[in-house]
Amino acid sequence: MTVRPLLILSVFFYAIIAQAVPNLIVIMADDLGYADVGFNGCKDIPTPNVDSIASHGVRCTNGYVSYSVCGPSRAGFITGRYQQRFGFERNPQYQPNDPDMGLTRNEKTIAELLAPVGYHSGIIGKWHLGAHAPTSHPMKRGFNEFYGHLGGGHKYMPEDLVIKDGAKAKGEGESYRTWILKNYTPVPPRKYLTDEFSDEAVSFVERNKDKPFFLFLSYNAPHTPLQATAKYLNRFTHIKDPKRKTYAAMVSAIDDGVGLLLKSLRENKLEEKTIVAFLSDNGGPITKNASQNSPLRGSKGDVWEGGHRVPFALQWKGTLPRGKTYDHPVSSLDFAATMVALSGAKVDKDKPLDGVNLVPYLVGKNPNSPHEVLFLRKYDDKRYSVRKGNFKLVIPFRNGKPQLYDLDEDIGETRNLASAKPKILAELNALRKEWSAQLIDPTFKGLIHLKRGSGPPSPNKNKNKK
Ligand code: CA
Repeated sequence: MTVRPLLILSVFFYAIIAQAVPNLIVIMADDLGYADVGFNGCKDIPTPNVDSIASHGVRCTNGYVSYSVCGPSRAGFITGRYQQRFGFERNPQYQPNDPDMGLTRNEKTIAELLAPVGYHSGIIGKWHLGAHAPTSHPMKRGFNEFYGHLGGGHKYMPEDLVIKDGAKAKGEGESYRTWILKNYTPVPPRKYLTDEFSDEAVSFVERNKDKPFFLFLSYNAPHTPLQATAKYLNRFTHIKDPKRKTYAAMVSAIDDGVGLLLKSLRENKLEEKTIVAFLSDNGGPITKNASQNSPLRGSKGDVWEGGHRVPFALQWKGTLPRGKTYDHPVSSLDFAATMVALSGAKVDKDKPLDGVNLVPYLVGKNPNSPHEVLFLRKYDDKRYSVRKGNFKLVIPFRNGKPQLYDLDEDIGETRNLASAKPKILAELNALRKEWSAQLIDPTFKGLIHLKRGSGPPSPNKNKNKK
């Protein structure tokens, strides 16, 4: 064979590999409401850049996370397994001296799964999977780079971040005021935190564009405290409620950051090599940050749809369809399984993933639903959700009777069909018990066990809003 056909052949194979083994960028907002992005119909907060992910890819109307508050939801996403299987069922306390307060060593993160097949992984922003630097730090969990904070939230203005050594922060409240960690080194932040994280995300792409990468851009916005700069606040003079106005400004800052990141991918010709996903880690806590989940019932912390159905869209130019709306349930658990399938990464046999490779479903090769059933348990509240097809069993209150809703007909969960459809209720309840039998009890205490005043109130304490 002469050199030229060889070259053509190698370019051909490279093209196949380049398409088949994509980069992954997951942009996760924190406490963003279902209704607060343009692609889900938001009117008062323009999100053109976030929306462009949906218009260039797939908008998932039934996108779920595996828990309705931050820490456990992130544990599910990062492992691709229901976090109730390994006892991560509470928001962890900020305990730099406790190696057991966070993600167990017995589970692998997406970064740990992808490292053996050559991926370079970075996380920018909120970790919330343990603050014990020797074992729980992101760089002990497969990530090659970290730029962010270990706790469950953070203040946004550089002048408020005055605690240099995060290990000396006492509890969740003080952890909000630490410097930012660049890998293991505390650095004083220079900008409004959301802008700082966006800049770092662009830098990550620029620095790693020549190798397969996984970037978890984990904005802590628009989680409380509600803080924004004039640059963003000035865009929302039409919003009179000061809480909603600041929240809108925070969402707008995320949207600007997403725009910068997408521009960088475009300029570096990475769009066809990169899956870009956008979602929230749980539903909006409507009374806390003035987010909106309509038409869904409930809010962060709930097992109603408003607790765990979130804004969810992803693009992969050249592979996923453009501007598609996908209505079957998908899950944050699916990212790990998708990347394992595409990259050939190996999963421990005794720890099978709960997600699935979404690509065949989203491109239309597989017309079935990616998940026959999706589950949620909140151990401390004895609350459950079981979604099968269009039906959802929900036990919304401690020791309450199971209720049944048809989400196709009644997205707001207003008409309990438990009496009208006892067979379906019984079937879903049997599935609930079967799944629950596979789970373990929580392995660490959570924010809910702290005395009042020693940290921000736990979302677990939220009462049902409706
Ligand atoms: Ca959250």
